Amino acid sequence: MSDAVLATQNLVKTFGALKATDDVSIDLRPGEIHAVIGPNGAGKSTLIQQICGGLKPDAGRVFLNGQDVSHHDTRARAQAGLGRTFQVSALCMEDTVLENAVLGAIGANRAVWRFWASALKTRELTDRAKAALERVGLSEHHQTRCGNLSHGERRQLEVGIALTLSPRAFIMDEPMAGLGAGGSKKLTELLDGMRAQAPILLVEHDMDAVFALADRISVLVYGKIIASGSIDDIKNSDVVREAYLGQ
Ligand code: ADP
Ligand code: MG
Repeated sequence: MSDAVLATQNLVKTFGALKATDDVSIDLRPGEIHAVIGPNGAGKSTLIQQICGGLKPDAGRVFLNGQDVSHHDTRARAQAGLGRTFQVSALCMEDTVLENAVLGAIGANRAVWRFWASALKTRELTDRAKAALERVGLSEHHQTRCGNLSHGERRQLEVGIALTLSPRAFIMDEPMAGLGAGGSKKLTELLDGMRAQAPILLVEHDMDAVFALADRISVLVYGKIIASGSIDDIKNSDVVREAYLGQ
């Protein structure tokens, strides 16, 4: 399993006659951003769901820091160090930015619930939430209601909530989706600075962001990884050009 922080081994998921993921083995190494690209319907979100525990694979295994987490549920995988952002926003729009970040930090760790009454723990959670908000550039917005944030700021908050976990690996499904140029640039800078803390498996359609960030790219087409390598490898690959980039 080498020194991979996250690895999948031969993941398969079928929906009826359709193989959404077909024998996918992929890994994430310390310090890197590994982008997964591919056309719509290629199986990217299915792969992410299998890694996070939301979808049970028909076959294959998932390892986190060498530990087989294939039978862990979503929460147990989060506790084992898998941080994620969601494609569909899960923020509480009526609550403030800080409240959302604290709630994220609580939800992340079931054991913390037991100590929720303790003021000390509350302070610790709040401090952790504030530190995460500073990392994502939302320090000025502690008391802003989430519903009043821009779309880009909500994305920053989602990343901040993932950071409250101090994850060992991040996994993100199209974080740039729906962002304008300014929002994409800000989030790209943010992700760029996060890889040193925890590597990122990044599913992304926005090729500017992918080419700005990726240390490695894997190309998924019809459920199969057809190529994997550096940005140059992928740009110069005939297989990829034919299957995907040449559209
Ligand atoms: P991507 O994220 O790359 O666009 P998905 O993983 O969402 O692709 O989907 C891969 C394929 O699996 C698509 O053909 C999609 O229609 C199909 N699919 C995804 N989820 C389901 C499901 N719950 N039931 C049936 N088919 C599904
Ligand atoms: Mg998808």
